[in-house]
Amino acid sequence: ILNSNQLLNYVWIRKSSNVTTMSAWAINSYGGIENLYLSSSGCMSAIRSPDQLLIKVHAASINPIDVRMIGGYGRVLINVLRKQSGSVTSGTEFPLTVGRDFSGTVVEVGGNVSKYKVGDEVWGAIGANKPGTHAKFVVASQSEISKKPANISHIEAASIPYVAATTWAALCTVGELKEKNATGKRLLILGGSGGIGTFSIQLAKAWGMHVTVTSSTDAIDLVTSLGADTVIDYKTKKLWNELKLHEKFDYILDTVGGEYTDKSLAFLSPWKSAHLVTLVTPLLKNCDDFGTVPGLFKAALSAGVDTFKGLTSGRSVRWAIFTPNGSALDRVKQMVETEQIKPVVQETFPFSKVREGFKKVSEGHLRGKIVIDVL
Ligand code: NDP
Repeated sequence: ILNSNQLLNYVWIRKSSNVTTMSAWAINSYGGIENLYLSSSGCMSAIRSPDQLLIKVHAASINPIDVRMIGGYGRVLINVLRKQSGSVTSGTEFPLTVGRDFSGTVVEVGGNVSKYKVGDEVWGAIGANKPGTHAKFVVASQSEISKKPANISHIEAASIPYVAATTWAALCTVGELKEKNATGKRLLILGGSGGIGTFSIQLAKAWGMHVTVTSSTDAIDLVTSLGADTVIDYKTKKLWNELKLHEKFDYILDTVGGEYTDKSLAFLSPWKSAHLVTLVTPLLKNCDDFGTVPGLFKAALSAGVDTFKGLTSGRSVRWAIFTPNGSALDRVKQMVETEQIKPVVQETFPFSKVREGFKKVSEGHLRGKIVIDVL
């Protein structure tokens, strides 16, 4: 039995069946970058819910998660989410298009979309269960997007939404950092020169924090130019000895993982509301290796162990994952328009050369973002 709202939604979906067949970079099986192929007509994009929009993609970025997803990373849990959300109806996730963020123009709006209209220039980052943005069109929910900043190009804009939403999830949602209480707080960013690092330095500086970052020698100028107060060159100095020379931190943002998560904990202020938030968690891999329920259970145990390690020394260790967040992008838009945050694009690849962009991201040690010019 449908209530009146659900009935209206149902009627709206039945009426609007504008399915767009489009070209998109896709895979038909998991494997290496060579599995990516440009499908000229096999991929379809259509609004399936009245809170969604169809967007013509002008540019999209490539993130480490995209490279891992074509190798099958996260497939078990993401497939559960795909089935739950109805984004897979054929019984298989293939052809699978990756890409999580975009900048583009609205070409169609669902019946419940009030904030946007056809022709609006928007940017956004969508959930991993949805068909991706390395495509001519993408469908997004209105809660996943925001108006694009007016002062930057689509290429520049596409470099920001995924890293912005991830940083917001880590520092603000999980780390409980708020703009109004950030001034003067000390933040350590492990991995300052990549996508997350270059964005989070700028966000933290705009909010008046003192920012220390780890960096390779060749990226020192970049992270300094973005506002980092202290840069520790982990290639030429012993990082853990070097950190002993500095005051302890109120927040640590870990984008490296492994021994970095464990060893950096000692540099967090004890017995204060200080948080180490790591973005490198075994959640998706555990589900891939052991199945959904045992994988979630194993991940919960590991999270418990991390929490316990922190608590015994009066510190807090938390895990964060990317979450689509249109309202955070609204705030970031203002910060871009007032030039508190600038896009950091390392290299742009044309749509025909997406595989080369993936290769670049897979080699790591990025200096900002790799962007695809989709138009
Ligand atoms: P990038 O590839 O853009 O940047 C990675 C950074 O890590 C580089 O700047 C590199 O700097 C640094 N780095 C690599 N190895 C080391 C090392 N051994 N010691 C110190 N620094 C190192 O990735 P992103 O910034 O986009 O993402 C970073 C990580 O965050 C991802 O790999 C992923 O694991 C995680 N992530 C998790 C998400 C989640 O939902 N949980 C979402 C997004 C990202 P240098 O060249 O100076 O070594």
